[in-house]
Amino acid sequence: MVSGERTGGDGTIGAVSSPQVRVRFAPSPTGYLHIGGARTALFNWLFARRMGGEFVLRIEDTDGERSRPELIDVIFRALEWLGLDWDGTPVHQSERGHLYSAAIETLLANGDAYWCACSPEEVKARAEARGGTPGYDGHCRERGLGPGVGHVVRFRVADTGTTAFDDLIRGHVSFENANLEDFVVQRSNGSPMFHLANAVDDADQGITHVIRGEDLINVTPKVLLLRHALQAPGELIFAHLPLIVNEKRQKLSKRRDDVSVGDYIDRGYLPEAMVNYLATLGWGPSDGVEIRPLAEIVAMFDVSDVGKSGAFFDVKKLQHFNGEYIRALTVPQFVSRSTRWLFEDAPWPAESFDIATFEVLAPLVQERVKLLAEVPSFVDFVFAAEPTIDEDSWQKVMVKGADLAVAVLDHALVQFADCEWTAAGLDAALFSYAEQHEISKGKVQAPVRVSVTGRTVGPPLFESLVVIGRDETLRRLGSARARL
Ligand code: GLU
Ligand code: ZN
Repeated sequence: MVSGERTGGDGTIGAVSSPQVRVRFAPSPTGYLHIGGARTALFNWLFARRMGGEFVLRIEDTDGERSRPELIDVIFRALEWLGLDWDGTPVHQSERGHLYSAAIETLLANGDAYWCACSPEEVKARAEARGGTPGYDGHCRERGLGPGVGHVVRFRVADTGTTAFDDLIRGHVSFENANLEDFVVQRSNGSPMFHLANAVDDADQGITHVIRGEDLINVTPKVLLLRHALQAPGELIFAHLPLIVNEKRQKLSKRRDDVSVGDYIDRGYLPEAMVNYLATLGWGPSDGVEIRPLAEIVAMFDVSDVGKSGAFFDVKKLQHFNGEYIRALTVPQFVSRSTRWLFEDAPWPAESFDIATFEVLAPLVQERVKLLAEVPSFVDFVFAAEPTIDEDSWQKVMVKGADLAVAVLDHALVQFADCEWTAAGLDAALFSYAEQHEISKGKVQAPVRVSVTGRTVGPPLFESLVVIGRDETLRRLGSARARL
């Protein structure tokens, strides 16, 4: 159990009354929200909501390039899409330079930091000559330098002792001070280093718990040393989340993997499926039931139950979650969630789309898609003047299976001309062929489906033909027959 947690309700489902909890999500804008960042944001949010605490946002844009509003906006939009609401107004580090300067002044005044005139090349050359631990050797510690061109400010790390903390996930973590170099807190261009701003803001904002990726664990001793030197009040409790890895157990990378939340939005993942799936990356409810409402996850979430080993980001599993969530929608919800793919990103001309016709097929499509972006491919044959013929399907059914295709199409052209135009009527008309020739219904359907829809997969065939109508069905069967 997390320290500070009390059991016993305060009236909110699953929330424990501990108003002192305040966590933050502190992204550095890169133009997209990384899946790992989304998981970090979610775990902070879950922790805050579970504890009845606050979840605040801090944009870590001390690197000037990163403060461009469009880069930051992407993060807000992605968090909104995920439904991770934050408390208060987000803080931007680019607007808080005075706090970092003041902290650096304090460190310098107290002798906890000093000016260093060494260039990176000099630092490196000396480290190589010396052998052993790479990094800065304390060369300027006692030189009494002041500001100057190319000068940085370094924190003076004690030569002995340890810097340690108890991580809620990783347990006791300890660093020998002898292995920590006198790290830079202010660059030669005067800007604060990330860990300085990070430590100052966590203290200034009254953050109680830091939940972040394990890749930042080496930053934590620096933050602790800075907090100590700056006399930050209270204790900051850390929880370092396991890395997210791909199927080869490699860290997810922008180059190798689809890591941007925006890509998943564009493919038609539902935010509730994404959030539910992200919650399983490193954490799992004790009863093993993974697909469950967010309110239940909030009620069960305990950050100290998060595992230590890398969490596999399994896109297939995410798709499965998404399919389940799509099927759990009501039909009107499914129709409205599909809007973007029916109107904006649709493959047919807007004027040939008819929502009422789509609504007829919607329940059948909803049963079959895993992603909303697949929706158009299930109904485009209805709204396009001609079906888009999928070459693989055509080869398989109409070329390799040409004899059967010719026979079935000839049969259908005759039977469909005057059968009852209902799913049952069409079924009976086509399957009289299957019965006569003792072949499976699936085999008989295939040439009709490819002729009319262009593909071997799609919504149920006879319902689709009913929607298309007799004349258009016969026309498409005729033109496919002519191609054979
Ligand atoms: N800004 C850091 C990053 O985007 C996160 C810092 C933190 O969570 O402490 O990697
Ligand atoms: Zn130096």
